Amino acid sequence: MNLLLIAPAVVDEKRRGMQGKAFQLPPFSLAAVASATPEHVKIKILDEAIEPIDYNFPADLVGITVLTRFAPRAYEIADNFRQRGIKVILGGLHPSALPEEAIQHADAVVIGEAEGVWETVIKDFEQNSLKKFYKNKDFPDLARIKSPRRDLFNKSKYLFTAMVQTTRGCPFNCNFCSVTKFFGGRFRTRPIECVIKEIRSLKSKFIGFSDDNIFGNRIYARKLFNALKYEGVIWMAQASINIADDRELLHLAARSGCKGLFIGLESVDSESLIQMHKGFQKPERFKDSIARLHDEGIGVLGAFVLGNDNEDVSIFKKTLEFAKKIKLDLAQFSILTPYPGTSLFNRLLKENRILSFDWSKYDAGNAVFKPLKMTAEKLKEEVDKLWREFYRFDEILYRLLTLGKRLPVQILPLLLLNMSFRKEIAATQNL
Ligand code: SF4
Repeated sequence: MNLLLIAPAVVDEKRRGMQGKAFQLPPFSLAAVASATPEHVKIKILDEAIEPIDYNFPADLVGITVLTRFAPRAYEIADNFRQRGIKVILGGLHPSALPEEAIQHADAVVIGEAEGVWETVIKDFEQNSLKKFYKNKDFPDLARIKSPRRDLFNKSKYLFTAMVQTTRGCPFNCNFCSVTKFFGGRFRTRPIECVIKEIRSLKSKFIGFSDDNIFGNRIYARKLFNALKYEGVIWMAQASINIADDRELLHLAARSGCKGLFIGLESVDSESLIQMHKGFQKPERFKDSIARLHDEGIGVLGAFVLGNDNEDVSIFKKTLEFAKKIKLDLAQFSILTPYPGTSLFNRLLKENRILSFDWSKYDAGNAVFKPLKMTAEKLKEEVDKLWREFYRFDEILYRLLTLGKRLPVQILPLLLLNMSFRKEIAATQNL
């Protein structure tokens, strides 16, 4: 049996495989599905960001992972395969939030995490008895999941494939985020020995952790870092800014190889943070917290979300000045996006403020809802400008030359990352 697993993408044909190569990660969710597939099944992973869809591939079954922004494309691909008589399964964040929409384009929909039900899906397909919907009764136990099948990636097309997952789930419930609904409201952890075994098997000096918050469960994080410090790797991850308050754990993270963190700061404005259900973060403390991370030799990418109800046009200048003042090494500016399944989506829908249900615009770069204190057009225009201003060449130069004691070691990687962002901005904003 041949199983074709597809990660859809919308790609300008001239730029396929080049589009943000520095940021292009392989589809790990499909590699996880592949590792949960019975051994007798032959699997191909097709990432449309790097290769076109081959509708003549001799697939018996097609599985497609669907993020909201690629949903229209995923449905197009699914419809095409089904017209050829090939059965299609859809899964991922978008079908999990809107299974009744997804089933219009599929023979079955997997709701939530695939491990635990995927084996049944394959068995039912082989017995010609597919059901419409599959859903785990409980969240899968991470001690039972296997390492993702990275051997199925076309490694030459990606700069980085050494992403490792240690936890799933998040106890917070930020209004714009799908993580808690999809992965559950508590951290599930993988046994440390499985994580270390996987890291050793990668034979890579650089590791990225794909967890939503590597410090989320501090007892587990401490054990993980204590084990990691003997592995001689350099690692990066996502984290909450509050980790800066736990100096001992932060120091341990740095000693175990942490060199960069992606941190969802979300806003300079306390009221916005409360609206996002992230009022536990205090913007007035961000500068000191980031200085502590820098003192440990850890670079910081701070992410902001703009377009909250209390924000007027003054928020953009405030955010830019703030990002510079707190000395971020890199920054990301997203437009608040009401992804289906989130509490933000439900509220804006009730208030009749959703302007577009064209899911391809749900990419955090388009304003798909009506903000309260500005127009959607103004929101997009100003967020685009924020990107350009933060990554102006003179700003990059200033950031790099004021790295202080981090300068000798970090100037080159930060220069490359800043320039990669500049290149991506030029491409996406057609500059
Ligand atoms: S944004 Fe981060 S902290 Fe908030 S719910 Fe999502 S994963 Fe958790």
